[in-house]
Amino acid sequence: MNMKLVKLLNEQMNKEYYSAYFYLALGAKVNILGFKGAAHWLFLQAKEELTHGDLFYKFLLEKNEDIKFSQINAVEVNIDSYQSLFEQILKHEKFVTDCINKIADLCLDAKEHSVYQFIMWFVKEQVEEESGVCDILDKIKLANECKNMLLIIDNELLGRK
Ligand code: FE
Repeated sequence: MNMKLVKLLNEQMNKEYYSAYFYLALGAKVNILGFKGAAHWLFLQAKEELTHGDLFYKFLLEKNEDIKFSQINAVEVNIDSYQSLFEQILKHEKFVTDCINKIADLCLDAKEHSVYQFIMWFVKEQVEEESGVCDILDKIKLANECKNMLLIIDNELLGRK
């Protein structure tokens, strides 16, 4: 496989595992703030990120490429409001989308068709991730800092399976 592509896939694997770390850290914080729904949502989100990391790991194994685990950075958590929590989540998912798109770009340039097919799953997944977070964010904005409404939204998040 194209060496730059191997490097990007390795980096992405690490970023997916970092995402799990990021969401667990956010979840721990909102749990203390009393938002049990968001904490539950974030816990499941973190688990999903671990499976994303595993997909990169398994793909690199299958391709017999070198796998490198880098240090996972500590997460700085600052949550000013329920809205800012989901704004941070959306910002992070947009960053991940950019990274995935860069991998897809390189697949096309390097004519790496099998990797292109693999990464297309993530392209689709990112559309769903961003759209899900945008929906929650829209509701939060409609609630306009009304505590009762925020608690209703938070309670809905408890329903995530
Ligand atoms: Fe992910």
